[in-house]
Amino acid sequence: MTRSAVTRIESPSSPKHALTIDVECYYQIFQRNYFATDVQATREVVTCTEKLLDLLASTGVCGTFFIVGRVAETFPSLVRRIVNENHELGSHGFSHIYVNKVTESEFRDDLRRSRETLEDIGGTAVCGFRAPQFSLDRSTPWAYDVLCDLGFQYDSSVFPFSGRHYGDPQAPLVPWTVQRGNKSILEIPMTVVKRLGRRWPAAGGGYLRYLPYDWNASAIRQVEREHRHAVVYLHPYELADNTSNPDFDVAVRAAPWKTRFAHRMQLINRGKTVNKLSKLIRQFDFGTIRDVFQLQHRSNSGPVERLRTPQRNMLER
Ligand SMILES: [Zn+2]
Repeated sequence: MTRSAVTRIESPSSPKHALTIDVECYYQIFQRNYFATDVQATREVVTCTEKLLDLLASTGVCGTFFIVGRVAETFPSLVRRIVNENHELGSHGFSHIYVNKVTESEFRDDLRRSRETLEDIGGTAVCGFRAPQFSLDRSTPWAYDVLCDLGFQYDSSVFPFSGRHYGDPQAPLVPWTVQRGNKSILEIPMTVVKRLGRRWPAAGGGYLRYLPYDWNASAIRQVEREHRHAVVYLHPYELADNTSNPDFDVAVRAAPWKTRFAHRMQLINRGKTVNKLSKLIRQFDFGTIRDVFQLQHRSNSGPVERLRTPQRNMLER
């Protein structure tokens, strides 16, 4: 696998930073991971995503929504609202499987099904992928072959730092092109900043929830000084202020302490996230991945050529 720097034409009309949302049902995934049970997505994913959509509509900001196929199938009107409000539609897999825990063929089937589901419902091309739990990594180079084969234009799954459950501390901090044979795809990594000789995540999600607003804002200012573009992510459930789910609560109370702890960690600061996010998208210039990185709209016929011109700090480590 080879990497090469990506270039981008600076345009005053392009947003500076990408806002990305991984649309999934907290209860569906938690119960699969911790209880090995398969449940339907709950309406909470709709309520929380709509809260987010209302916020974005009130501020005129668009984002990229990487949607789990099973959620789209259960709540198709949510997908249509996302498309109608000019957000970008992306895939977060069909069943939220972890790329580094499945075979190439299982990944291919899941990804194809997710894209077909989203395109059928949304009526628009799906060109981008975000791997659940950033699970596309050095152990899964074949995943890029699958993405190329299925006509994806970009992937945004690599977290270039050393995390507890994911991350690649050697990956570049800025987008790069992955060449696989005669095909290529753009990798758009999550945002980290270098401080005190280490890389620190500055990309939303739990980091936005746990860390003070000022830390997040100063990280994005640093990204701007380095002429980079932040890619911030979050999940709709992080905006939930009422997490009541009686059956789930009973199951968690009866579960081992590690499960209870994992759930408790996910509840921390949820009530504060909407205000932090609201402040962040008002203070900084956010848009979709497609607009920030100036990817051309296309049909499903295959990847398109990007615009090319030099950009600083391309493969900075
Ligand atoms: Zn996810």
